[in-house]
Amino acid sequence: MRESEERFRSLVRHASDIITVLEADGTIRFESPAVEKTLGYDSEEMVGKNIFDYIHPDDREEAFGVFSLIMDGPEELPPLQCRFRHADGYWKYLEAVGSNQLENPSVAGIVCNCRDITERKVLEEQIEHRAFHDSLTNLPNRTLFLDRLSHALTRVERRPKPIAVLFLDLDNFKVVNDSLGHEAGDQLLIELARRLQECLRPEDTAARFGGDEFAVLLDDLTYMSDVTKVVDRIVESLEAPFFLDETSREVFVTASIGVAGRLAEEGPKDLLRAADLAMYEAKGSGKARYAVFDPILERQVHERLELESDLQRALARGEIKVYYQPQARLDTEEIVGVEALARWENPERGMILPEKFIPLAEETGLIIPLGRYVLEEACRQLKVWHERHPRNPPLTMSVNLSTRQFRDPTLTGEVLNTLKETNLAPETLVLEITESAAVEDAKSAISMLETIRELGVKIAIDDFGKGYSSLSYLRRLPVDSVKIDRSMIERIETDAGDWAIVSSSIMLAHTLKLEAVAEGVESPGQARELRTLRCDTGQGYYWWKPGPAETIAALLTSQDEGSRSSGQPAGSGKI
Ligand code: C2E
Ligand code: MG
Ligand code: MG
Repeated sequence: MRESEERFRSLVRHASDIITVLEADGTIRFESPAVEKTLGYDSEEMVGKNIFDYIHPDDREEAFGVFSLIMDGPEELPPLQCRFRHADGYWKYLEAVGSNQLENPSVAGIVCNCRDITERKVLEEQIEHRAFHDSLTNLPNRTLFLDRLSHALTRVERRPKPIAVLFLDLDNFKVVNDSLGHEAGDQLLIELARRLQECLRPEDTAARFGGDEFAVLLDDLTYMSDVTKVVDRIVESLEAPFFLDETSREVFVTASIGVAGRLAEEGPKDLLRAADLAMYEAKGSGKARYAVFDPILERQVHERLELESDLQRALARGEIKVYYQPQARLDTEEIVGVEALARWENPERGMILPEKFIPLAEETGLIIPLGRYVLEEACRQLKVWHERHPRNPPLTMSVNLSTRQFRDPTLTGEVLNTLKETNLAPETLVLEITESAAVEDAKSAISMLETIRELGVKIAIDDFGKGYSSLSYLRRLPVDSVKIDRSMIERIETDAGDWAIVSSSIMLAHTLKLEAVAEGVESPGQARELRTLRCDTGQGYYWWKPGPAETIAALLTSQDEGSRSSGQPAGSGKI
């Protein structure tokens, strides 16, 4: 007996597991020396103390439970995991297996075997944290967000207090990422996450769903109207510039936010979808704003989604047509060029105008193949007109470029290819970019414009004076002509301010040796005013509406004939 006890003691002494023998009430009768390494106590000193005093208060109840099960019988129980206090005051995770040896006369106690599992536990927690959080911003991810949302919804059943979901998406994140690099993009997201959290109360959840998509759960609101206060706070917090030390640049961002309140009998996914739809609406109606979900909205969004998938097929089915609107010299009314304008002839909806589908094409990236098609078609058409209607100087073709096309690195290669394939003189092609696209990221815009001009192609600034009115800016842009926006031409006779802007735009253009083009001329009075201001060319319904190639060809023929019979350039041949 003594021999076996000796063997037992020596085994225990050298074991790395902690072996404890307890009395029926949890009093420690024996503690193996391994406890010192794991928990920092002297094993002798622990004898006589109660084991439960070492256990974390939150884990005690569970430990009692397991202990009483052990007391009930000798069968094996699954290990218990709980926190034990280290002598230095912090907590360690131990895994304990107990066996009831009260009936065994040589032990007469409960024998516990404890192993330190702190490292494993911490690792598990990290893995769990990672599974439910976004590694960049450390915000909860979609999974955790949905979990919290469904808890919130269950709670609403019991205690009806409003909850709301916001869906937030940055409007220009891609630009930041593409132009300043991913590290700068990451920094922006981290800072955005921080600002977002600052706008919320502790009971709210901000989550990142990936990319620049964030969702917010506003839980336990007093009034539904509090939602707009939070949204306003978020919008305001985004107004301050973001400093990205990677690039030491200041960046401004805006976001589109969709808002959805709790809807009757709907689950977390429906609520999220509603907020997502509302966000989509906010983006569609001009970005940097928020929209609140309502069922009518859903219909509109649905329509738009349909339009989007139709547009995808439209190109393949040849439903995209190119119309042309002539540009005339103001003094002689001779056609000097045309602008290519895309039209969508939808078999069910009829003719769809660009303002409806160009933004959609921009958003979805379809603008790239669509723009390529318009460019090729317009160049091919111009070549035909050059041959059939030779003029001196030859007719020009203006083609619109959206911001996304303008930023597309393959653009120059494509333009060059098209010129080669159609055998077109480069200086007869004019690419129109909007003032906002040129101003947004000025440095890269200028270098892009320079590259295009190296091909011999001309550049026009479209919609000049709309929004930015950056007269001073014009000096820095390598362009050939300025198209003054219709909104100012419209009031040129009635609004002194608009008259002044138009007049100084024309003067400035001439000083910079650029051509001035007036857009949207609708009345003889406007044309007269522009003539007095020495504007070079005009485009508008007063002369001609955009029309299909055949109509323009007929018009060119009639001008050709007119000039042959009179020896003078032709006057207007209105369509
Ligand atoms: P934009 O480049 O400023 O084109 C001029 C717009 O004004 C055209 O509208 C034209 O039909 C319209 N317009 C011309 N004269 C008058 C007038 O006297 N009165 C009025 N009320 N309107 C006039 P449209 O064809 O609907 O095109 C709208 C915009 O869509 C264009 O504005 C352009 O930014 C864009 N767009 C059109 N085609 C394309 C394309 O192929 N690619 C790209 N990226 N954008 C395009
Ligand atoms: Mg244009
Ligand atoms: Mg325009």
